[in-house]
Amino acid sequence: MPICNKCGAKNDEGSAFCEECGAKLIPQEQPAVQPKPESVEKRPKKTKVGLIVGISLGAVILAGVVLLIIFKPWRKSPQDITYLAKASASSALSPSRFGNYEPANVLDGISSTCWAASWADGGANAGIGMWIKLSFPREVKVTRIGLIPGYDRYGKDIGDRFYLNLRVRRARLEFSDGSSQKISLRDTREMQYFDVASVRTSFVKIVIEDVYSERAKDQDLCISEVEIYGVPVGKTLSALGLVSSLLCSWKEGYSEDPFFTHPISLDPATFVELVKLDSTIVLDIRYATENNFTHEVLYPEARCFLRCCVAESLVSVQRKANTLGYRLKVFDGYRPHRVQFLMWKLVPDRRYVADPNRGSRHNRGTAVDLTLVDSTGKQLDMGSAFDEFNERSHQNYTGLTKEQKRNRKLLTDIMTSTGFTTITSEWWHYDYYNWQSFPIVDVSFDSLRFVASLAGDKE
Ligand SMILES: [Zn+2]
Ligand SMILES: [Zn+2]
Repeated sequence: MPICNKCGAKNDEGSAFCEECGAKLIPQEQPAVQPKPESVEKRPKKTKVGLIVGISLGAVILAGVVLLIIFKPWRKSPQDITYLAKASASSALSPSRFGNYEPANVLDGISSTCWAASWADGGANAGIGMWIKLSFPREVKVTRIGLIPGYDRYGKDIGDRFYLNLRVRRARLEFSDGSSQKISLRDTREMQYFDVASVRTSFVKIVIEDVYSERAKDQDLCISEVEIYGVPVGKTLSALGLVSSLLCSWKEGYSEDPFFTHPISLDPATFVELVKLDSTIVLDIRYATENNFTHEVLYPEARCFLRCCVAESLVSVQRKANTLGYRLKVFDGYRPHRVQFLMWKLVPDRRYVADPNRGSRHNRGTAVDLTLVDSTGKQLDMGSAFDEFNERSHQNYTGLTKEQKRNRKLLTDIMTSTGFTTITSEWWHYDYYNWQSFPIVDVSFDSLRFVASLAGDKE
């Protein structure tokens, strides 16, 4: 509202001359806003607040960068994800004196065990349509599949099982998105790989379409091993898993481990140190000494950790052994996954060491290597030494003395009646019956003790 400079009257907006005195109205200038002394004082306070905000923002960004570096979410390069799978099949042969033929054998990283199904189980059309299915707990992007298309086992006692059984000639790979792909295999016992067009799926189903039968004496179709490469998609990190894995990575420098991208939340109740349950079980942890097949010390301490249920079953085994006048002597239990890599570096041979990319059942805390000792602590004669990798160590080696046979049967009987299963190639190795339900873990003995101490387990 223009005010007349001459008479001070208020005039209407837009008037050129004063209504009171007729003087020319000069457009008013907006008075410049004087900076108030208060605001001058406030300035240093504002920069302090800004500094704090800046620092915390920086910390958040830094934490974000650290998380990104650890989890490498951008890393999409396919890796061996076989260990995530569970196997099922159209049928499986019943166990024989050579072992069992469960579908899980294709995932165990041991090529001398296999899934086998009687060709007749396939029904009409010479059994075409028999299948083995590998299911994942969540969707994965599969890029490559490897297959040993027969029973990759050879021994003087059993002959060349590869050519004595049927082998896969052609198969169809089916995926949960409804797509499928046909593959043709060579009649050779090595792992054969097939690229897959990066399909998003929750399973890989291998449907047999044709077989090689030349030289075969048995009409059973076998697959020793399957490998699946890809990337888990839509993986969710639980807050606990995130924190525990961050803690582990900070404590142990795990970030180089490819398996670390699948953090496991360590439930303290899942592992226990065997001697805490029964101190009368004898320990001879060979991998904590040079007295093992690698001639290297692989464990920092001579300790035996196992999944709780496995350790509890072993305590029952010890009781049964006690009533017969014997005690258990344990050579190995849970083996941190990193040690599997170390073993493989020293002895990269599938016949002796499970491929670390697949993991050993020892890495799941569900396998135990053991023997029996008598009341004087003397080991029973089992016909071969622990980790002696030859036919003499095979569970059903025929060249045993009566006593050795009796001793092996003694151990096998009490173990298999208490929840454990045998493997064909090592008399000392036993698996907990549902080992498949336990994931491979890479946690050091040190960390397991640390977790146990958190749970109130005092040393
Ligand atoms: Zn005026
Ligand atoms: Zn073993």
